Amino acid sequence: DVVFDKTQKLSLSLCTAGRRKSVAHQEINKASKRLSCVVKPPDVQIKRGKFGEPSRPNQKFYEMIEEFRETLEISPLSADDVAEPHRICVCIRKRPLNKQELNKKEIDVVSVPGKGVLMVHEPKQKVDLTKYLENQTFQFDYSFDETSTNDLVYKFTAKPLVQSIFEGSMATCFAYGQTGSGKTHTMGGDFTGKQQNSAKGIYALAAQDVFALLNHRRYANLDLSVYVSFFEIYNGKVYDLLNKKAKLRVLEDDRQQVQVVGLEEVYVSAAEDVIKMIQMGSACRTSGQTSANANSSRSHAILQIVLRRNDRATTLHGKFSLVDLAGNERGTDVSSNDRSTLVETAEINRSLLALKECIRSLGKNSDHIPFRMSTLTKVLRDSFIGDKSKTCMIAMVSPTMSSCEYTMNTLRYADRYLLLSRFFAVFQ
Ligand code: ADP
Ligand code: MG
Repeated sequence: DVVFDKTQKLSLSLCTAGRRKSVAHQEINKASKRLSCVVKPPDVQIKRGKFGEPSRPNQKFYEMIEEFRETLEISPLSADDVAEPHRICVCIRKRPLNKQELNKKEIDVVSVPGKGVLMVHEPKQKVDLTKYLENQTFQFDYSFDETSTNDLVYKFTAKPLVQSIFEGSMATCFAYGQTGSGKTHTMGGDFTGKQQNSAKGIYALAAQDVFALLNHRRYANLDLSVYVSFFEIYNGKVYDLLNKKAKLRVLEDDRQQVQVVGLEEVYVSAAEDVIKMIQMGSACRTSGQTSANANSSRSHAILQIVLRRNDRATTLHGKFSLVDLAGNERGTDVSSNDRSTLVETAEINRSLLALKECIRSLGKNSDHIPFRMSTLTKVLRDSFIGDKSKTCMIAMVSPTMSSCEYTMNTLRYADRYLLLSRFFAVFQ
């Protein structure tokens, strides 16, 4: 909280004072003036740059951000910290600058001081061309900086939900954010090598814990089996990723139970089986894609780990849905005159809005869940009802200045959730 107050105050003074430097800096300058009569003209100092070579585009903003960062108190999340239980948990993850961005000397405009805080230093210019930063602070349950591993993210997000499905919950974990922000990296696995390392994603880490708990004394007498399904929602239609992208129908019966007719549910006996399914499904997901704007970024992928009792009806006991959402960049494709792209964008916006509304209803313990608004929320209907449902949203952001607008959209979407879940927690 101290960090929060301090940064808020600092951001205010930086915003209003524009180019003003910190007090300490001015003192040092004064001292050096007193000591030496040769004072370098200020523009030379700017050209040389305090933090690097002058060739960087947006060098001035880079320096302002670095200077601001020097004032931040950093206390990053560590694997030793305890994961608090949440019914609705909202987190943020910042990915590192990639090679291309580093080569172009793009500037990183996002800071993660820790304790759930994330800051965006938005570069702005006044009418008189004075450059200034608009520093905005957001608070989440957890904030993960660019050095965080999938293991660390998993510990505070999906891991606490795994146990809940053994207790009969419907749990969901969403990866939300713009295309290229790290959703698939987080859920599906590490792509830093040539190939995707599926064993290092939240899907696989969750599967490993499911099997660890399945064999645990505490749950042994439940006599459960594990099944996996993996499907994609594109333009409101469901495609089975474990069955050659077969197009499936979504039906609702008179008791409002939603069914994806014919969805493959594969019995799995070990975490390795799940990883095989992930690899198979991921390959199926990306096959047959032609354009650079691949469908995988325009579709939601849902991996479900299902617990069923070994009775005659294989009764559903608990379910964990792990969702790699479609990219949330909106409106950008409007410039293209392609009608199908416009339809796609509209459909994505609608489903993400529906998702927000449904989580909001879950937070309110409302009887009315607007799940019919989209196919995504229809197939996840079970996850939004009952007091045992638990949800975690991991919002991903890219660090670059060019992504700033999308980053702000992502933060606003995720932030409203948090406000709501906090507000209702007070009354529970
Ligand atoms: P999305 O699924 O949101 O479109 P990806 O997960 O495909 O984004 O990530 C885009 C690129 O950035 C990939 O090459 C991925 O390996 C890389 N990347 C994403 N997050 C990280 C991270 N936390 N650390 C290292 N590389 C990352
Ligand atoms: Mg992706």
